Amino acid sequence: MFFAAIEGLTRLCAILETASQSKQMKSLLETAAHVKTRVRPLYDRLPQQLRAFGLYWQTLSLLRESQYWDEGRLAEYEVTQLRRMLQHCAANVPYYQKLFRQVGFDPNKLRHADDLANLTTLDKETVRSGPQDFLAQNIPESKRNYYTTGGTMGQPLGLYGLRGAGWRERAFIETQWARVGFNRTRLRAMLKGAVVKSKSHWNIPFLHTYPSAALDFARILKDANIPPPRFEVLLLGSENLYPGQREWIESFYGCRVFSWYGHSENTVLAGECEVSQNYHIFPEYGFVEILKEDGRPATDEGEAGELVGTTLYNPVMPLVRYRTGDWAVLGPKSCPCGRKYRLLKETRGRWLQEMIIGKLNNRISITALNMHSAVFDNVHQFQFYQREKGSVELRLVRKPSYSADDSNAILTAFKEKMGDTVDIKLKFVNELSLTERGKFRFIIQDLPQAKNE
Ligand SMILES: [Zn+2]
Repeated sequence: MFFAAIEGLTRLCAILETASQSKQMKSLLETAAHVKTRVRPLYDRLPQQLRAFGLYWQTLSLLRESQYWDEGRLAEYEVTQLRRMLQHCAANVPYYQKLFRQVGFDPNKLRHADDLANLTTLDKETVRSGPQDFLAQNIPESKRNYYTTGGTMGQPLGLYGLRGAGWRERAFIETQWARVGFNRTRLRAMLKGAVVKSKSHWNIPFLHTYPSAALDFARILKDANIPPPRFEVLLLGSENLYPGQREWIESFYGCRVFSWYGHSENTVLAGECEVSQNYHIFPEYGFVEILKEDGRPATDEGEAGELVGTTLYNPVMPLVRYRTGDWAVLGPKSCPCGRKYRLLKETRGRWLQEMIIGKLNNRISITALNMHSAVFDNVHQFQFYQREKGSVELRLVRKPSYSADDSNAILTAFKEKMGDTVDIKLKFVNELSLTERGKFRFIIQDLPQAKNE
């Protein structure tokens, strides 16, 4: 019964990843790093892969130290990196050459990160409409790596990064996971849509997946009466962690959830702390501003604003003051862990996609709706779909026990929360829509103004 039930799960499985690097490989990489500093021309002829590994170790060792630098040292590091990136933009990137001329901005005079506010912010549409203008002219095509961002409802955005930069990203991700005990020699399971073949796969310390997949997995286990595997930590990235979800997942699996905020454009990365659920912004990754709706920076704990990021490591296609479209709430000024990194209390996906729009153009935040209420006991999954303001379709995947009473209870509960400004219709479906990257969203917005978000 145990394995039969698991074999039946089509979407889920544990793929093991040991990712261990042998000692031999490590010493080889250290040698490569040494060669890089001493004999540049020789380094340039080293195979790409080896250089990328070097970037990985360099980044790890920087982060190991810099996470405990004091505020002064961090600020100095940040402004130096920022100045260097902007000097590169002024020398090599057509979009910024034009912009800096227009507004009279001289990166050599940058003394404080706040000086950046003299530049206009950059939105996704501007990048999409002229991507060539953002490419550094001094970096050959052979060193570029093309990729596209997921996008949710709108078109994907094509971007270029430095070849091998994925290893740098990996160093950042592993550094934040280390806060909850991860290291490269420990096993990590991922939910991927194949089949668990051995019971030994049940004893893996880390489960790395999307919040929605962790919930699906939990529901399937619960319905089949199978106790959850004993994980130490659930590493949940790539999707928003909605209110109530964290608590529910932690109590079902009986372990901590560790999440982080990142986005494909790679200007902002913030990961939870080991001593709280606040997110530390990595200043080595990008320079991050939190801009309120009036355009001014959020300065006090609890203030919310849009995350605006400037890359500190993508010289191929640098994004400066890039509006992510995501928002965050500023956290406390200090953290008991001792890191001086700035803190966010929470991060959320696209503004509009977290909201249901009412008849009066009023916005009803997803946080106002209790997603774990008992009215959903006979529902496997649900999702809102909105195509016109003031009206929303609630899509339900029912359990066999579902009856007309459940429909009435759900409609009553939502009327109470949303009032008369939104008409709600129930629709029974066999499965819910995911984004093209397989991510789940509670609200699918198909409103005209939301399309390009
Ligand atoms: Zn901390």
